[in-house]
Amino acid sequence: RDLYGIDDWGSGYFGISDKGTVEVFPFGNKTTSIELAKILEIAAEKKVQTPLIVRFPQILDTQLTRLQNAFRSAMEEFKYDGDLRAVFPFKVNQRKEFIDDLVKSGRKHVYGLEVGTKPELFAALAYDLHPEALFVCNGFKDSHFIELAFDAKKMGKNVVLVIEGTDELKFIINHAKKVGYCVDIGLRAKLYAKGSGMWEKSGGVGSKFGLNSVEMMEALYLLEEAGFKDQLAMIHYHIGSQITEIKRVKNAMKEAARVYAKILKSGFNLRYLNIGGGIGVDYDGSKTSFYVSHNYTMQEFANDVIYIIQDICKEEGCKAPHIVSESGRAVAAYHAVLLTDVREVEKTGGDIEEWKISPNDHKLLADMMTAIKLMNGKNFVEYYHDSLQSRDELFTLFNLGYLEIEERAKTEVLYYELCNKALHFYRQSGMQLEEFDELEKSRFGKYMANFSMFQSIPDVLGIDQLFPVMPITRLNEKAQHHGVIMDLTCDSDGCLDKFVDKRDIKHSLALHIPKSNEPYHIGFFLVGAYQEALGNNHNLFGAVNELIVRISKNGELEAIEEVKGEDVGEILRIMNYRDEDILLGYENQLKRNVLSGAIDQKDCDRIMKKVKGFFSEYPYLLTKSSIEIIG
Ligand code: PLP
Repeated sequence: RDLYGIDDWGSGYFGISDKGTVEVFPFGNKTTSIELAKILEIAAEKKVQTPLIVRFPQILDTQLTRLQNAFRSAMEEFKYDGDLRAVFPFKVNQRKEFIDDLVKSGRKHVYGLEVGTKPELFAALAYDLHPEALFVCNGFKDSHFIELAFDAKKMGKNVVLVIEGTDELKFIINHAKKVGYCVDIGLRAKLYAKGSGMWEKSGGVGSKFGLNSVEMMEALYLLEEAGFKDQLAMIHYHIGSQITEIKRVKNAMKEAARVYAKILKSGFNLRYLNIGGGIGVDYDGSKTSFYVSHNYTMQEFANDVIYIIQDICKEEGCKAPHIVSESGRAVAAYHAVLLTDVREVEKTGGDIEEWKISPNDHKLLADMMTAIKLMNGKNFVEYYHDSLQSRDELFTLFNLGYLEIEERAKTEVLYYELCNKALHFYRQSGMQLEEFDELEKSRFGKYMANFSMFQSIPDVLGIDQLFPVMPITRLNEKAQHHGVIMDLTCDSDGCLDKFVDKRDIKHSLALHIPKSNEPYHIGFFLVGAYQEALGNNHNLFGAVNELIVRISKNGELEAIEEVKGEDVGEILRIMNYRDEDILLGYENQLKRNVLSGAIDQKDCDRIMKKVKGFFSEYPYLLTKSSIEIIG
């Protein structure tokens, strides 16, 4: 049943029920579960259409606790002197509903926030975190950013301004002298050590970020000269997101711990070592160094970090720092599932029995029919090539006007049948022929899904990210078809044809034939990190509807909150359209038609009423269930 590897990538949060449906375990164990199909039933009752993001705040809470526990148990094991002050990087998921829940869950862990821009800082400071939680400010800063951080200190916030360049530092020092106090300062180190995987460029000497040793020395000199040695609180580094290999984590840790210890020993009052983000998510469930996986567990990551820092600080004879982790992907990815309905659209071929070859048809059609009948395991390559040529000649004859449209249709039916047979013998042969592999790929069913890849899973288009995708019902039935998934955009890029398959990539997904009387739903999993912030409005598709599903510890559905997606009017307004201009445009044209007698006033009024209602329309397709509801 588990064709899709759910037990491997689900991390204890997702599984398949006896009924053959996907179920969610919000606490990461089997004690409590809810079926995704049940959530869709509730969505239909509430008239919430797909595509739909379902958020599970309990998964977020559990995953955050897993991260905290991993570091805390490592600290206990190695009798570590320092504490943990993890922060969540705002950019990983800035949706208000998400951050609200994260902040609630984070209080018990003294969890803070990391920001990289002025608007992120502005939004983050409105949250009343635990008084000891950190606000780490990375990224490039202007005077307004820095002044806001100083004001935040006045509000009692634990702000650390992490310096990306010495000019920034000069501004901070001048400002501090002017106002008579200073925030805590951090230095981002440009390490020689690099990460691994897709974001390797974030680390290493060529990285865009951080201070090299010469710049670092200059920064230390500036601080000392200004009498701000005590204000230098943090050393920070980040070697990239989704680090795939643990050895890269260890190398970076050794280098950074040494930088920390040397600066501390030269008389600065360092307290925090910020190890950045980078803990991977095992999207394909392979637990390897493949680019959508990682070859370590969260516990191994934490153990290595803590052990190395402890060891180096002992060697250098200095106090161990508080550890700041900025891992965001590993905290956020699991909590969100995107659900949508899928229909198979493209019909290829036809019933060969219905398309009899008649004596009047062109001889090449009869040749193709004979090839189909006589094809076997020995001759299939040759017969396939001959028939390919017949097909091309028949198409040329049609273009020159020698064939009727019916003969063109017969050519397509025969060719389709011939490919079926040739592929059947190819699969049996055990041969490896590129031509037939390509033929196989070209014939996967095309399933049209009611969503936009540009809006909901932009990383697939931008960086070849893979997410687990699977049907959420009918998992006790054999999925006999292989398909690719096309989205609604008028763009050939909007086609999902790469799927996770333990350290490899599958080019099709096993799917069922949708039934005419019920919607067929698929889920995109582990989409809670980065996707929502990066999605765009290509083709005027906007943010999708959301349901936030809260489950109590004893398995009861406590609440389902609805967050409406963007409607047509909202998206048009983002693109500078004004409602009144649109209405006027329709009105003028309709009036002209009434005046000319092309339509009567009744039609005009009816159309105008519809037009007004369209501003609040969901831009995605009406699904089968919503057509019933709306109808
Ligand atoms: N910290 C910094 C400075 C980053 O640039 C990033 C993202 O690349 C993160 C933390 C979060 O990384 P991740 O989500 O992979 O844990």
